[in-house]
Amino acid sequence: MLDITRKPMPSSRWPLPDPMRRALDAAAEAARTGAVPVGAVVVHRGRIVATSYNAPPGHHDPSAHAEILAIRAAASALGQDRLEDCDLWVTLEPCAMCAGAIAHARIGRLYYAAADPKGGAVEHGPRLFDQATTLHRPEIYSGLGEDEAAGLLKDFFARLRS
Ligand code: ZN
Repeated sequence: MLDITRKPMPSSRWPLPDPMRRALDAAAEAARTGAVPVGAVVVHRGRIVATSYNAPPGHHDPSAHAEILAIRAAASALGQDRLEDCDLWVTLEPCAMCAGAIAHARIGRLYYAAADPKGGAVEHGPRLFDQATTLHRPEIYSGLGEDEAAGLLKDFFARLRS
């Protein structure tokens, strides 16, 4: 079940749902490994079954985005390739590759924190789930935890430049 007893972040008025809290913690872990800080969590019927962070450098794999790794881990843990009864929580608007994987996985609900005007493919760019040809459109909720998610990214890129 969602843990709503955690303390709210200073920047937000309400406590974050536990999966987003964990996705943000995973994003911070990505930054510690030198990868762009994005974290993802898959919840199956109220239980977290996968937590991953963006790791292309560590995996030597350009497709090792947080969402892809979390979807793979969840599908493996559940022993199924369709995740209709799963929710994906991710700290950044998914890119086209990940949005495609979300459609293929038939993810039930997508929650993402920060919008990504440059690389996002949900409310920006190709708007994949709005296309008539999309395989599947999850329920989509955005904005929960966006200040913290955007702050992690901002700090990461500021450090790269310094
Ligand atoms: Zn992606």
